[in-house]
Amino acid sequence: MNAPAQLRRAAPATDLTEAERARVLAKSALFNPPPYVLPDGRRDLVGLSREELAAEIAAIGEAPFRVKQIWHWIYHQGATDFARMSSIAKPLQHKLAEKFVIGRPVAATVQTSTDDTRKFLFRFRDGQEAETVYIPDPEQDRGAVCISSQVGCTLSCRFCHTGTQTLVRNLGAAEIVGQFMAARDAYNEWPSPRGETPRLLSTIVLMGMGEPLYNYENVARAMRIVMDNEGIALSRRRITLSTSGVVPMMDRAGEELGVNLAVSLHAVRDDLRDELVPLNRKYPIAELMAACHRYPGATNARRITFEYVMLKGVNDSEADARELVRLIAGLPAKVNLIPFNPWPGSSFEPSSGNALHRFAKIVMDAGFASPIRTPRGQDILAACGQLKTDSQKGRKVLS
Ligand code: SAH
Ligand code: SF4
Repeated sequence: MNAPAQLRRAAPATDLTEAERARVLAKSALFNPPPYVLPDGRRDLVGLSREELAAEIAAIGEAPFRVKQIWHWIYHQGATDFARMSSIAKPLQHKLAEKFVIGRPVAATVQTSTDDTRKFLFRFRDGQEAETVYIPDPEQDRGAVCISSQVGCTLSCRFCHTGTQTLVRNLGAAEIVGQFMAARDAYNEWPSPRGETPRLLSTIVLMGMGEPLYNYENVARAMRIVMDNEGIALSRRRITLSTSGVVPMMDRAGEELGVNLAVSLHAVRDDLRDELVPLNRKYPIAELMAACHRYPGATNARRITFEYVMLKGVNDSEADARELVRLIAGLPAKVNLIPFNPWPGSSFEPSSGNALHRFAKIVMDAGFASPIRTPRGQDILAACGQLKTDSQKGRKVLS
């Protein structure tokens, strides 16, 4: 069901002009990653769009049909070595290897939880690091890869460990898609040459470190690559982007990518949300909800997920639950109730089981699914909001 027409019309006339989007994008560009050229001059092909790959191939004097072949080897077969590209003759394999590499971030550490959740600390070329989490579904042979979009975060949500680390830099498209590809490598999850489809790592959630909509260009490039039909070919239905509410970029993500949207709400009154999610001071709840009503493609089959971290005595009352229902009325929505995951030095406590269930019941009785998320990988600090690295701005790092 789409939002009723009167609700769409009622969305406040917005001052979210193109100029404001341009401002967000210009600020984001200041934190862009270094270019992907090795000291020996070879270029990493991962992260290039099809058009950019075509330009590289043309620049070395090769025919356009090679682009499709190489794309297939990189993104469908997961090849990291040109010598594996059996449809390409040896002399061209050598020539490609002289000019290019097919990169991956390096897994500096890998930890596996007692519940089989696995956390990778990936190190990128300049030594900066970010975490990626694979969350297997215990009931099916599937799972989700939780990907980071930034090293650190500019926002400082009070309950989030990443929020205690200032933004070091954005991750590039290669680093974003590279996290997924490296996780697939670890599980040997590429199709065999005969072509059966990988299932284990077939969902992406952009819910790791960072705010994806403050790194929109790189996130969008990476998602276009994973959605390309001749490569990894994930459907947009298998990708969920989580945002703390960067309203102007929500419209753009909806129009251009059409992936599932998750919104980190966490409070139903502006005074409390201003405290918990400081971005609310810029884009308050009314504007955020209006952007949700405008989000293209949200239907009952593809609902917007509202994430709500349950903090004891802070946002978990029955009155909060009723106000939440009022806020999301008319939207194709579901509510993910996330018990607060503590981290070293955090100052909140998780809500009691009773409070969680009371809250969930009110939301459910109003007709919205409201699953209580079981924390995964808590023992290895891999659960929602627990990710943080030692990467710092300006730290002396590996080259
Ligand atoms: N920056 C994006 C995506 C990363 S956070 C965003 O904020 O949406 C992914 C989810 O984990 C968000 O809903 C976030 O609010 C939630 N989260 C953060 N800290 C948490 C914690 N300590 N316990 C439980 N969930 C937390
Ligand atoms: Fe950043 Fe999201 Fe953490 Fe807020 S919850 S500090 S936006 S990563």
